[in-house]
Amino acid sequence: MSLIRLDKYLADMKAGTRSEVKEYIRKGRVQVDEITVKKPEQKVDIMTQKVFLDGRMINYVTMEYYMLNKPSGVLTATMDKNAKTVLDLMDVKRKDLFPVGRLDKDTEGLLLITNDGELAHNLLAPKKHVDKTYYARAAGRIREEAIKLFADGLHVDDEFTALPAKLELKGYNDKDNYTDVIITIHEGKFHQIKRMFEAVGSEVLYLKRLRMGSLVLDETLKPGEYRTLTQKEIDELY
Ligand code: URA
Repeated sequence: MSLIRLDKYLADMKAGTRSEVKEYIRKGRVQVDEITVKKPEQKVDIMTQKVFLDGRMINYVTMEYYMLNKPSGVLTATMDKNAKTVLDLMDVKRKDLFPVGRLDKDTEGLLLITNDGELAHNLLAPKKHVDKTYYARAAGRIREEAIKLFADGLHVDDEFTALPAKLELKGYNDKDNYTDVIITIHEGKFHQIKRMFEAVGSEVLYLKRLRMGSLVLDETLKPGEYRTLTQKEIDELY
């Protein structure tokens, strides 16, 4: 048995705010197993009972949230005939999980895996401009002037001019001729970071996502490892 309050059940399933659903219940709009229930505090067994609002059945779907440190060489997809996907790395039974957004096959780092479509939409909707921070190793010497070019909105190609991005130079390696950088972008175009560095005459040699919105990669996770999000991490994403 898995009992929760009727008002929480409906609010969790986004039928309304907690106070709105209490009102629906008091007004007799909610049935549990065909019996009208007018007490918001009445307990419902989410495993065995059926809840209806205005005659429409509301299934209780529990949400799950994981952070995966994606390794290189794995596809950001739920399944693929030929290649290993991020979900193949996870020992989870439910079938409705999906990765939020896409990292290239050779990109590593933070990937949120969930079945919460609303959260995914909020994080990915172009209008929301959710920040994404990456560590990148770029070929050659990236000079100070690039910081301004990125901040002003880099003209990438005829297809797009990037929104202003924050570039931090973390050091030039003389011997192997590359520059380590941290870059924060506010959109998620196809191969965006790679294309931005190409636009300044460089090439991304290594890319790892460190942050998406408020969610920061847990550096104790080795590539290929994952963990569930804490309640605080979930709340902050909303
Ligand atoms: N930008 C890229 O070029 N690749 C990624 O995987 C993510 C951002």
